[in-house]
Amino acid sequence: MAKKRTKVGFVGLGLMGAPMAANLLKAGYPLQVWNRTADKAKPLVAEGATHCGTPAEAARGADFVVVMVADDAALDAVLFAEEGLSRGLKRGAILINGSTTSPGLGFRAATALRSLSVRYLECPVMRSVQAAREGKLQMLVGGSADDFAKARPVLEVLASDIHYVGDVGKAATMKLACNLLVATSMQAFTEYFALARKSGVPFETMMEVMHAGPLDSQIMRYAEQAVVNPGGRPNFYLKHMLKDVNLALDLARQLDVPVPLTGATRQILAAAKNLGHGDSDYSALVDLVASWAGVAVRG
Ligand code: NAP
Repeated sequence: MAKKRTKVGFVGLGLMGAPMAANLLKAGYPLQVWNRTADKAKPLVAEGATHCGTPAEAARGADFVVVMVADDAALDAVLFAEEGLSRGLKRGAILINGSTTSPGLGFRAATALRSLSVRYLECPVMRSVQAAREGKLQMLVGGSADDFAKARPVLEVLASDIHYVGDVGKAATMKLACNLLVATSMQAFTEYFALARKSGVPFETMMEVMHAGPLDSQIMRYAEQAVVNPGGRPNFYLKHMLKDVNLALDLARQLDVPVPLTGATRQILAAAKNLGHGDSDYSALVDLVASWAGVAVRG
C-alpha cells in the first residue's frame, strides 16, 4: 500500500509515543493523533499531523492505529471508553499496541476487536527514548503472522530489530520477562554502587572495573547514567517499572512460578513511588538505596 494512501492513527504521545509518531510522519504517513493531554499533540500538528478530539476520531478511516499508553487502565480506556478507538476503527484495520500491558488484556482486546473485524497486534518495545527518536527500537510482535506481514512497513519505521514471537499474549509475556530482568538488574546495580561507595572505592574505579569485565552491558550503561546524569528529564519513569514488575508478578502467580528476586524488587519500587519518586528515573532509586547505607553515591 502506498504511504500516502495508508492512513495511520496514533494514540498516546508520552515520552515514547511522541517521537514514534514523529517518525511515522517523517516517513510520509498521513497521521491522525490523539492524546489525553491535548497540548502534547501540538508539535506533531505543527509538523502536519491532524489533531483529533477523541480516540475514535483518530481511528476513523485509518488502516493502522498505533497505541502507546501507560498501562492496562489506559489501554482499556482508549480502546473501549465512550469515544474510544473501538467506536472509530474501520473493518480490516490493524490495531498496533506498543504499550507494555498484560497478556490478559491483550487477549480481551483481540477478542473484542475481532467481533468488529479489526485485527490486534501486540508490539511491546525494548530500549528507550533515544531509540524511539532514531526509529531503532527493539520490538516483540504477538498476533497473526498475516497481520504482522501487513503491518511490517509501519513497524519498520519504529523499530530496527523486530522479533515475531507468536500469538497474542506471547510478546506481552516476553516483554514482562525481559523487564523483570531489567528491574532486578537495576536494583542489583543500586546495591553495588552503595556497597562500593561506602567501602571508599571511587565511582570512576567502580565503573572502570565494570566496563572492562564480564558485567559490561547496556543495562550497566543505563545504571551508570543514573549516577552520572541525574536530574535530567527522565527517559523511563519508576512508576512504569513498578507497573511492569507488578504485571510480571501477576503472571508468575498465574503460572505458579516462584520469583523471589522480583518480589523483593517490587517492594523497593513501591517504597520509592510512595516516597514521591514515581515520576523520577533510576537515579532516585540509586539515591534511595545509598541513603539506607548512609552514603551519597555522588560527590
Ligand atoms: P509516558 O510518558 O508516561 O506516557 C504515557 C501515555 O499514556 C501518555 O500519552 C498519557 O497521556 C497516556 N495515558 C496515561 N493514562 C491514560 C488514560 N487513563 N487514558 C488515556 N491516556 C492515558 O510513558 P512512556 O514512557 O511514553 O511509556 C509508554 C509505554 O511504553 C508504557 O507502557 C511503558 O511501560 C512502555 N515503555 C516505555 C519505555 C521508556 O523508556 N520510556 C521503554 C519501553 C516501553 P497524558 O499525556 O495525558 O498523561
